[in-house]
Parts: sequence; C-alpha cells; structure tokens
Amino acid sequence: MRVRSVVLREIRMRLVAPFETSVDRTDERRIILVEADVDGVVGWGECVAGEKPFYSPETTDTAWLAMRDFLWPFLKDAEFEKAADVWELLEPVRGHNMAKAALEAAVWDAEAKLKGMPLWKLLGGVREEIASGVSIGVKESVDELAKAVRKELAAGYQRVKIKIKPGKDFEPVKRLRDEFRDIKLMVDANSAYRMEDWPLLKQLDGFYLMMIEQPLGWDDLYSHAELQKKFETPICLDECIHTEEQARAAIALGACKIINIKMGRVGGLAVARRIHDLCQKNGVPVWCGGMLESGIGRAHNIALSTLPNFTLPGDVTASKRYWNEDVIEPEVTVSTRGTIRVPTGPGIGFAPKRELIEKLTVRTERLA
Ligand code: MG
Repeated sequence: MRVRSVVLREIRMRLVAPFETSVDRTDERRIILVEADVDGVVGWGECVAGEKPFYSPETTDTAWLAMRDFLWPFLKDAEFEKAADVWELLEPVRGHNMAKAALEAAVWDAEAKLKGMPLWKLLGGVREEIASGVSIGVKESVDELAKAVRKELAAGYQRVKIKIKPGKDFEPVKRLRDEFRDIKLMVDANSAYRMEDWPLLKQLDGFYLMMIEQPLGWDDLYSHAELQKKFETPICLDECIHTEEQARAAIALGACKIINIKMGRVGGLAVARRIHDLCQKNGVPVWCGGMLESGIGRAHNIALSTLPNFTLPGDVTASKRYWNEDVIEPEVTVSTRGTIRVPTGPGIGFAPKRELIEKLTVRTERLA
C-alpha cells in the first residue's frame, strides 16, 4: 500500500450545548479531518486534539503542523503492507499521538474499503452491537444535573458518567445516588485532585461508583497506585495512558483496575488494539472514551469498541447529543436499550457528507 496524497481539512462545528469538564468549557470544536488517497481509494480519519492543550499537550494547530511538516514526510513514498504498519513508519516522531492517529485512521478506513470489508472486522472485532453510556459535563446546579441524567436514562443509555471538579463533586454524586440508587454511575475528574484531597475522595468511595476516572495528575501513575491501594472504587485511567508502555506500567503498579482507551491519545488503532490485548491478558476491562468527535471519529470509535475486551459501556453515543447535523450519513443512533448497531458497509461504514463538510471547512491543505 502507498498513501498517494492527504487532504487536511479544518472544520468548525458548534456543539448543541457547551460541554464543561474540570479544566475547560467547549462551545465550538475545531476538528481536523484527514482524507487519504491510498492506492486510489479514499479513507477518512479525524484528529481529536482539542483547541487548547488542557487534556493533552496537543492542540488542533500543533496537530496540523505535526502532520504536515513531520509525519507526512515519513508516510510519503513509503510502501507498506497494512494500516497496522503505519505506527512504525511514524515512530521517529516522538509524541503527537493524536496527529499520528488521525493519519493512521484514514489508512485503516482505506484498507478496509480496498478489502471490501467493515473496519471493525479488519480490526478483529467480535460485536455487532456496542453498549453506550453518556458523559455529562459539569452543570450549574444539582437539579439541572439530575434532570439531564433523567433524560439520558429515559433515552436508554446504560451507564451515566458525570464530570466532577473541586466543589462540584460530593453534592452532585450524593444527589444522584439518592435519586438513582441502582444505576451504573461513574465520575471523571480529569486530574482535578491531589493525594491531599483524600478526605473528599474517601467520601466518594462510599457511593459504590462503577469507577472513578483519572482523579489525580494527568501523568502521575505513582500517585494513582498509592490511591488505589486504599480505595475500594476501581480507578480507571484515561490521560495517563498515552503509550502501550504506560499501560503496562499502570497494570504492574496497580495504578488502575480499568482503562479507558482512546485511539487518539495512544497514537492510533494499532496501539489501541495492543493495549486492549495487554489489558485482556491481565484481566483489566476497557471501554472507549470520547473526545467530542464528529461522526468520522465516532465511526472509528464504534469499530474499536467491537474488540472483545470492551466489556464496559463506552462514551460513544448518538450524533444528536453533540451536533444539530453530523458530518456522516446515516448519523449514529442509539437504541432504547442503549446500544449502537455496528455498520456492515466497507470501511468505517458511514458516508461522509461532502457538501456539509465543505460548508464547515475553514482551511484546507493538500499533501502530496
Ligand atoms: Mg476521561
């Protein structure tokens, strides 16, 4: 296989409602879509880097630069056998995982299309339906939060995750546990706490949460291991796991009992699959997190979530929870049982809406 050319495209998409975490609030996304011509077939990828470096060091702008100036030269003219080989080709560049993943994802889509098979089958997926949970941002009041949870449960979602931050943690969780005793409930702190916050964390430990996601430093495996020793609630790591080696270290240290796998954070589907396999071997369940993706990234997440060890509901949800109109057709929908049907068409199995994408595009660059 050879990548003949790549088109980078930045699109702007306004969320149906702002999304707030412990670190930032997002109203509008600046998303890079990657369109790669691989042996004459077009594959699509999406870069999940945020507008600001508050989740990871990468941003929309650094990813664009990394793809154009540093990654493309390693891909250009390279002959390789399969999309899973792309990671090794890009390995001389350190970090920039989201930029790498976006290019690699487009090649995976193209390879599946060249072979006339769905991407999830090419990856080795085993599920025709995936379980869907929601991620609810920080809300102004606990009443507003409870209302949002009621709405999502009525729509069928299988588990509820809420974002927490200092001052918006104990009260919201207590309120939800009072009203919804038996739901699968979890919290995500996006690294808002330190070990010194133990008294508060200890309180959260009493709410039989499914897991607490990334409570401590974004790159601090050691403290998470210390916390997990005295914590009943399983810790799930997100930000900390940006390489296969970090995943291995986290498991060996006992820094978590669950891992949230995001293909962008770890540099693509090949590494995501390796981390999945490693977790499976070690009895660590995984699930797929979300990065406020457009339909292209969402489609890749659906394919990834079909691997056998994705045994917990992920953050992959319906298009309409984020966008008035998504860039793919059909849009992603969720059944009343809180599941997403995995598409059967070749590649990602959803068709990019070219006209809409053109309309949303604010800059384009062709690499050849
Ligand atoms: Mg998270």
